[in-house]
Amino acid sequence: MKTFGYAAHSPDSPLVPYSFERRDLRENDVAMEVLYCGVCHSDLHMVQNDWDWTIYPIVPGHEIIGRVIATGSGVTRYKTGDAVAVGCMVDSCMECDQCKKGEEQLCREGMTGTYSAYDRITHEVTYGGYSKHLVVREEFVLRVPDGLDLSKAAPLLCAGITTYSPLRTWNVGPGSRVGVIGMGGLGHMAVKLAAGLGADVTVISRTKNKEADALAVGADRLLVSTDATAMEKAQSAFDLIIDTVPVKHDLNPYMPLLDIDGTLVIVGQVGPVSTLSTVPMILGRRRITASPIGGIRETQELLDFCAKKNILPECEMIRIDEINKAYERLKRSDVHYRFVIDMSSLTGPGENIGQNVCQN
Ligand SMILES: [Zn+2]
Ligand SMILES: [Zn+2]
Repeated sequence: MKTFGYAAHSPDSPLVPYSFERRDLRENDVAMEVLYCGVCHSDLHMVQNDWDWTIYPIVPGHEIIGRVIATGSGVTRYKTGDAVAVGCMVDSCMECDQCKKGEEQLCREGMTGTYSAYDRITHEVTYGGYSKHLVVREEFVLRVPDGLDLSKAAPLLCAGITTYSPLRTWNVGPGSRVGVIGMGGLGHMAVKLAAGLGADVTVISRTKNKEADALAVGADRLLVSTDATAMEKAQSAFDLIIDTVPVKHDLNPYMPLLDIDGTLVIVGQVGPVSTLSTVPMILGRRRITASPIGGIRETQELLDFCAKKNILPECEMIRIDEINKAYERLKRSDVHYRFVIDMSSLTGPGENIGQNVCQN
């Protein structure tokens, strides 16, 4: 299938229109037209080759909402016209202990990333959701439940599941005391989801600037981390702290905030962190850990949960030709809180700019 999208060809070149092919449908494949695609911080990191594993050209995008346009002969779960979603992975071995548990993101052979990875069968490079069409095996396609706003659901597929998975892993529910460090794409979802699960939620931020925003998305309060008195008072006040800060930072001030057996879970890919004191960890049996996305079953649970509770990301809709400008704003954290690309703005080679090729 011939298709087209936007690709970067080197770490310092902008995203530009790009034509390429999607594979012919395998028996268990679902082909979809992409309707909306979220813009994740990882997209920017990968385009810039910040983690040194980018394969160029790269077509980013792993927060994908689409509509099924064709299915392989063996597909049983989806039919043409269904609203579907795809997140950060498109394949895994499906046979190891982790895959069998539904934790495909932890596959012993490594999950296959939605973009800039190698297909398990053909070894072709995978291309993501900044494109008109996508072909994915049905086991890695999610169902978008009725009632979930298609135009806003895309960020659930990465920002949503990345924060939902630790909330579920550490059994957050009514009565849980949850802290959220950082109020960006991930942070605002962590607040909404923790509140939706019934937790008491505190945003932890360097200044009071984001207090109104924090309360507006469902937090109970904001704790200013540079206020020594407030930090002293908040000692042992949390069962779980989700740290969403996307750059290197000092974790030491946050450790005493955890109660005994409390957990600080890092979800931002920051690489090396600052030197860490074991004192508060040992004295309070506190833990630091990290967490990636969730498995397919948990991601479906998240979509169903959000539909039921009417939880949606705060989105700013952009056109695909605004993507490079959006990246500049992302670098300055100038987004409330997630860009979503309206993929009907993506026109194919030879089509008039502005002509809508989406028939839905
Ligand atoms: Zn992401
Ligand atoms: Zn596996």
